[in-house]
Amino acid sequence: MLSEKHTGKITDIPDGAEVVICGAGMIGVAIAYHLAVEMGAQDVLLIDKRTPLSFTSDKSAELFSCNDWNQAKRRFKARSVALMEELAESTGNLFNMTRRGVLSVATRSETVASFWDRLNSDTLRLSPVRVFEPNSTPSTQYVPSTGEGLAKEPLGADLLLDEGLIRAHYPFLSDDVLAILHTRDSGWFSAHTLGTYLLEQAKGRGVRVIQGEVVAVDKDKHGVCAVRVVKGSGVKSISTRRFVVAAGPFVKRVAAMVNPEVEIPAMIRVIEKILIKDYLGIVPRSAPIISHESELFLEWSEQERDQWQDDDEYRWLLDEFSCGTYLRPEGGKDSPWLLIGWEYAPEAGRPVEVREPTWEPRLSDSVEYVDLTVRAASTLIPGLKRYIGRMVKPAHDGGYFVRMRDPLSGEFVPMPLIGPLGVEGAFIACVYPGVSSGCAAGELAAAWVAGGNLPDYADELSLKRYQ
Ligand SMILES: Cc1cc2nc3c(=O)[nH]c(=O)nc-3n(C[C@H](O)[C@H](O)[C@H](O)COP(=O)(O)OP(=O)(O)OC[C@H]3O[C@@H](n4cnc5c(N)ncnc54)[C@H](O)[C@@H]3O)c2cc1C
Repeated sequence: MLSEKHTGKITDIPDGAEVVICGAGMIGVAIAYHLAVEMGAQDVLLIDKRTPLSFTSDKSAELFSCNDWNQAKRRFKARSVALMEELAESTGNLFNMTRRGVLSVATRSETVASFWDRLNSDTLRLSPVRVFEPNSTPSTQYVPSTGEGLAKEPLGADLLLDEGLIRAHYPFLSDDVLAILHTRDSGWFSAHTLGTYLLEQAKGRGVRVIQGEVVAVDKDKHGVCAVRVVKGSGVKSISTRRFVVAAGPFVKRVAAMVNPEVEIPAMIRVIEKILIKDYLGIVPRSAPIISHESELFLEWSEQERDQWQDDDEYRWLLDEFSCGTYLRPEGGKDSPWLLIGWEYAPEAGRPVEVREPTWEPRLSDSVEYVDLTVRAASTLIPGLKRYIGRMVKPAHDGGYFVRMRDPLSGEFVPMPLIGPLGVEGAFIACVYPGVSSGCAAGELAAAWVAGGNLPDYADELSLKRYQ
């Protein structure tokens, strides 16, 4: 990886550091924060090829949730949300955390059955549960989210099976809606503001940030001994005994510099989202996250159907899609923006794996992705059909999402990987969805690096789970 062109001298990079972190996305920044601010580490160096927080961490939908089927992950996510809430309290909710919950919406009966599975699961611990059935007198009222910052929201979950109640509270949803599961322990926040706050606090405690690309990691008989960094035409060796891989989608590449023997069982793909101006006010600004959880078909005119039927490249547009969109209002109460994400997989429903991530993730064609995503969203929120072909400067972006192999099922799932990397002094921290888990990831990785107390979920989130 080092070539002859890298011959220049670099003077603005230190010769050594106690801890070097590769990657100043949300995860690297949170680790630096925990090491310096919470644990008092004196000499931490954050290295990034780009501006801090400008890669994947700048592209997220900024949602958080404490929900998960995996116990270790559920506790890890809940810990992160608790840490975020502490920071929100102490900063006057600087990063606009709001806990409106998720409306999971079913338009098929199988999805309704899956809602009951969730409610009856001991693992998810959705409690208390309130069920609102038709023609029954509930012992309590359904309380929609208030839409206000850190205002106290109800806990647990509400299952709405009563059509009248659904229409009364959510008249903008399609008549096809059969049930809504409103889980309350989720919401969103400004990830960039939180990341910037953590970074500034860390810098205030002496953390140094430098721009450069980590290209090699040197080892001696004691473990990690130096990190080589390229900047411009120069290369610099920084001596260190502690190195953390927080390289986001480049996790495999940077981990291999440390320990080529260890396989990081990661599957990487691109996911995307859009922002559209809801200038007709179709979705109320106080809405929670809305997630369409049933399969769907896109709506087309007869003429369009005939056209897709005859087109080998686009016939898949007539297929059934395995999931719907998620969406939420973006910005304050006067903002017109609506954020919508959809993971459609045009290749026969199979996720498209990216073998080698690049610094410019390859996104779908914008016109096509925006149009299809609004069409998909309008199967749940018919009012959005009015924007098809009439959108005002929609925005489209996306980035890589890394899934890890589940050791039991063999499936690739969102699963944190945090802990030692098999060489003395080397650690890894790769977390998706990670802007919301950054605080707990930073705390856990810092504990591994500095030898602090580990929570009892630590081993299950580390490489040990594959042994
Ligand atoms: C469309 C989309 C929606 C998402 N929605 C959510 C959501 O709602 N909630 C949520 O919690 N998460 C969400 N995520 C996931 C979340 O964005 C990521 O989990 C998180 O950003 C990962 O943070 P990171 O610090 O590991 O990675 P990054 O932000 O990618 O940071 C890694 C950094 O490492 C640097 N780097 C890599 N290799 C090197 C090297 N060799 N030398 C120097 N620097 C290097 C990169 O430049 C980069 O800045 C979403 C992601 C996408 C793409």
